[in-house]
Amino acid sequence: MNASSSTLKIVAKTNILNGGPLPTVIAGPCSAETEAQMLQTALELKKDHRVSIFRAGIWKPRTRPGLFEGVGKVGLEWLTTVKQETGMLTAVEVANTQHVEEALQHGVDILWVGARTTVNPFSVQEIADALQGVDIPVLVKNPVNPDIQLWLGALERLNRAGITDLGLIHRGFSTPNNKPYRNHPKWQTIQEIRNLAPGIPLLCDPSHIAGRRDLLETVSQQALHLGVDGLMIETHINPDVALSDASQQVTPAGLDKLLTALDLETERV
Ligand code: PEP
Ligand code: MN
Repeated sequence: MNASSSTLKIVAKTNILNGGPLPTVIAGPCSAETEAQMLQTALELKKDHRVSIFRAGIWKPRTRPGLFEGVGKVGLEWLTTVKQETGMLTAVEVANTQHVEEALQHGVDILWVGARTTVNPFSVQEIADALQGVDIPVLVKNPVNPDIQLWLGALERLNRAGITDLGLIHRGFSTPNNKPYRNHPKWQTIQEIRNLAPGIPLLCDPSHIAGRRDLLETVSQQALHLGVDGLMIETHINPDVALSDASQQVTPAGLDKLLTALDLETERV
């Protein structure tokens, strides 16, 4: 047993994906932009029984300043409308105490920690502290860099704060040569993380791996062949005018086509 696995004590109940069909499909825009954009996207997605969770970025961690950084708190009100109108569960990215508090105040169902946050133990600890005593599912994306220990560390910090409903999302790593991807998928990581965090559901985010629509099917297919428990796919009512990640988002109709091509119902391995 190596040092990492001998110190890992994750007490998980992992209900995060219960209640919906497997693989779980999380869909919705990279960013919440307007109430109409959110609602139109969600109402279209709702028609597809395979989508059970609606995602939207409210606070956007942009690599460079000066780009769209999210609508902030008002987007949480739109998310509440989405939930009321569609009955879908809602999920947002949180990166600090303020995000956690506002998301909880607005009844968000699922939180996720983004790649730029998983990379920083101070930030993860801040989120964990803000979640002390709160019973909410949290999904943890892999860190930007290919460091599995950071990923596990984030899981542990949340677990030590009492979060037991945990999941992992592989969204690819930033490597010296990502081509043709935006972030390089490391499929062997899937087996590695499964062994180190047994029983924790593992999802794949093909959107941030691919960075472009035309690679989504191949990436999703590879992940499903490895038996991932779900997919998180960015979906926008009008991707070409999206304020972030325009080239990787698909319309709800595009998602429907993608999921059908993947033959999701029989894909489980
Ligand atoms: C996102 O999901 O929109 C996002 C910012 O993803 P990541 O943290 O994987 O870059
Ligand atoms: Mn995005």
